[in-house]
Amino acid sequence: MKLLALESCNVTYGKAQALHSVSIEVAQGEVVSLIGRNGAGKSTILKTIIGLKQPVSGRRVWKGDDVTARLPNQLGRLGIGYVPEDRRIFDNLTVHENLRIATVMGRTGAWTETRIFEMFPVLLDRASQAGNTLSGGEQQMLAISRALLTNPELLLLDEPTEGLAPLIVDELVDSMRRINEEGMTLLLVEQNLRVPMKLAHRQYVVDNGTVQWSGTTADLLANREEIEKLISV
Ligand code: ATP
Repeated sequence: MKLLALESCNVTYGKAQALHSVSIEVAQGEVVSLIGRNGAGKSTILKTIIGLKQPVSGRRVWKGDDVTARLPNQLGRLGIGYVPEDRRIFDNLTVHENLRIATVMGRTGAWTETRIFEMFPVLLDRASQAGNTLSGGEQQMLAISRALLTNPELLLLDEPTEGLAPLIVDELVDSMRRINEEGMTLLLVEQNLRVPMKLAHRQYVVDNGTVQWSGTTADLLANREEIEKLISV
């Protein structure tokens, strides 16, 4: 089943056009990546999905319904979760308090604190520590956990592995794979091919505010040189 689609979306910041007729879709159960260099338009695509940006033309479609006019909180209630690039951890709240906020605000469902602590045992160890005492990898785990606790059907992740050491990246990739295997649909943004190749089923390459290429991960491997050129800085 198709969960989400953007159809021919044009998006602007003032007079500057950031997205040109972008169309993407995500089916239930998939892991899909948006890949591209800095400033390509990837974050803007996620913001358009979650309603932080409204397209000047084009449509946002959720399970076949036109939801272009919906606001971010309404899209959240429909089942779209979002982990922003800056993670937005509350520094002065404990790990547990950071998680409790999501539990209180979100939808109820299969993702509970118990399940989160099974997925990320380090968060249980750190439950009473302040958010700003966590390492970058732990903060990312907390940010993902908080989004999971709102029980979305589609989870958007903006550069979840940015700035993290290779071993931590591998750990996060394993966690994201398990989260997907447990039924969560994922759409993630990355600047290079490393994580998308390991994790995603399908890929969109974004450059200059347009989708330049899309295909399966096998297609990506077959066209790797061409795609490396599209995303190299
Ligand atoms: P990054 O990896 O840096 O996050 P990105 O691929 O996510 O890059 P976007 O952040 O979506 O790219 O930016 C796309 C274009 O829109 C860029 O030209 C950027 O300068 C512009 N842009 C993004 N945010 C704003 C803003 N708040 N105001 C004006 N222009 C913006």
